Amino acid sequence: MPAAVAENPKIKATSAIPYTLYFGTFIHTPELTTSEICFNTLVGVDSRGEIDYIEKDFEPADGQSPVEYFKEQKKMSCQPQGGSEIDDENIVFVDYTSEPAKFFFPGFIDTHIHASQFPNIGIGLDTPLLDWLNTYTFPLELQFSVKDQSEQEAKFKFAKHVYSKVIQATLENGTTCASYFTAIDAGTTNLFADLLVEMGQRGYVGKVCMDHNEPCPAYSESLETCRKSMDSIISHISKVNPPREHLVEPIVTPRFAPVCSTPMLDYLGEISARDNLPIQTHISENKQEIELVAELFPDCESYAQVYNKHHLLTKRTILAHAIHLTQKECDLVAEKQCSISHCPTSNTFISSGEAPVYKYLYQDKINVSLGTDISGGFDVSILAMVKYAILVSHHLSMKPAQANGVDCKLSMTDGLYMATMGGARAVGLANLVGSFAVGKRFDAQLIDLDVQGARTDVFSWQVPKSGDLLPVKEKKMEDLLGKWIFSGDDRNCVSVWCNGRLVIDKRKPTKN
Ligand SMILES: [Zn+2]
Repeated sequence: MPAAVAENPKIKATSAIPYTLYFGTFIHTPELTTSEICFNTLVGVDSRGEIDYIEKDFEPADGQSPVEYFKEQKKMSCQPQGGSEIDDENIVFVDYTSEPAKFFFPGFIDTHIHASQFPNIGIGLDTPLLDWLNTYTFPLELQFSVKDQSEQEAKFKFAKHVYSKVIQATLENGTTCASYFTAIDAGTTNLFADLLVEMGQRGYVGKVCMDHNEPCPAYSESLETCRKSMDSIISHISKVNPPREHLVEPIVTPRFAPVCSTPMLDYLGEISARDNLPIQTHISENKQEIELVAELFPDCESYAQVYNKHHLLTKRTILAHAIHLTQKECDLVAEKQCSISHCPTSNTFISSGEAPVYKYLYQDKINVSLGTDISGGFDVSILAMVKYAILVSHHLSMKPAQANGVDCKLSMTDGLYMATMGGARAVGLANLVGSFAVGKRFDAQLIDLDVQGARTDVFSWQVPKSGDLLPVKEKKMEDLLGKWIFSGDDRNCVSVWCNGRLVIDKRKPTKN
C-alpha cells in the first residue's frame, strides 16, 4: 500500500483489510443480454480489495472445508504477479450458502446525478426543463457558491450537510460509483471530493461550467474564473486520490450547450484532451431546449454537432437524457463511442419524453447506462431506475407510431446490465468494476430478499434448494430477481463494499 494512503486514515476505501473469502450466490451481467447466476461460489478478495480468486459451483469433498480447499488451490497455483501475500492464519471466511434468499451483486453505478440538488427531491412535478432550472435548480445551486471569504464557513457547513447526505443515501442504495455534477463553485466541489474518499464511494466530480446563463446571471462565471476553478479542482483531486487507485477523479462538465459560450466549450474540449479527462453533459432532453440550441448555435446542424465541433464527444463522454436524438445524431454518438445515461424518472417527472433505449442498445449499438438525475429524478436508487427504465420501455412499446415496428421492451437483464457494466463502460472503468472477475475490484452489495422490514415477501417454495436441479434453481433465482427489481428497495441492500472495504453494514436477522 502506498505510504501516503497508509498515513491517511480518512480514506475509507483503502483502509487495511485482511484477505477475505466470500462464499454464496453471485449474480452479475458481464455482457449485454448475459446474466450469470453462480451458486456455491467462492470469491477471494485480497488486501488491496482486488478479486484474485473465483471458484464457481464449489462442491466440497467429504469433510473438506471451503477454506482448506482454497488454501490447497492457492498452494498448487503460483501466487499471481503483483498479488498480495495471503496470511494463511488470517483469512476471513464469509459464508451465506445456508441463506438462499441472499446473493451478491455488483455495486450499482449512477452515471448522472446532481449532488447539489439533493434537497429538491420530489419538488417541481411537471415543470418543463427550462422553467424548472430557473425556479428550483439555479437558486439552490447558488447556495453552494462562496462569493467572498466571510461567507466561506457557512457555505462549507451547508455544502457538507447536503453532500454527506447524498453520498450516504446513494451508498445505502448500493451505489458504489457515481458520476456527479456538483455546483459552479470550486471550494465546495473540492469538499465534495474529500467526502467521497472519506465515506468510501468512487466518484467522478464535475463542477458545472457555465458562462452564459441569461435567465439567472448571478449563477454564472467568467471563462477566466472557470479556468481557475478547474485548475484548483484538478490539482486538489490529484492529491486526494490515492496513487494507483481510481476512487475520485475530476470530470469536465459543461452544464449544457445553452449556458456555455463558444470560447468556454472550446476551452473544455481542450482541457479534456490535454489531461485525458472524462466529460459529462446533458443533451436533447426537451424540445424547447433543442430549439434554443438551434437558435444559439446556427452554424451547427444539430445539438450533438455543437458538442462535436468543440471536441466534447469522445469515448469518455457521458450524455445524459438523449431523448430526442435524430438518426444522424445517433450515428455520430455511436461513431464517437460516447455513452448515454438514461434517466427514466427525471424524464417522466418533468415530462421530457421517453428515450428509445432499446433502439440505442440494439440498433445503434450505443452504450447506455442509468442515472438517477437527482433532482429532476426523485429517487436515489439505481435499482428503482432499472424498474422505471423497464416500465418506460413498456409505455413506448404501446405507442406503435414511436415503436416503428420494433420491440422496445427492455428485459430485466438489459436493466441490470445498464445499472452495472453499462455504467462501468460509461465511466471508463469496465476493466475495474461492474462485474465479478479476477483482477477487478470488489465493488459489491449483499442483497437479502428475506430481511426483516423489507417489502419483498419470499415463500419457502420460491427459494432454490440444494436438491433442486440447476435449471430449476436458476429459474427460481430469476423469479427472485423480479421480486427484487419490482418490489425491493434499499432495505434489501444489507451490506455494501467499495474497493473490497465494507462501507455500509445494516445486516439484521432474516424474517424466518
Ligand atoms: Zn441532469
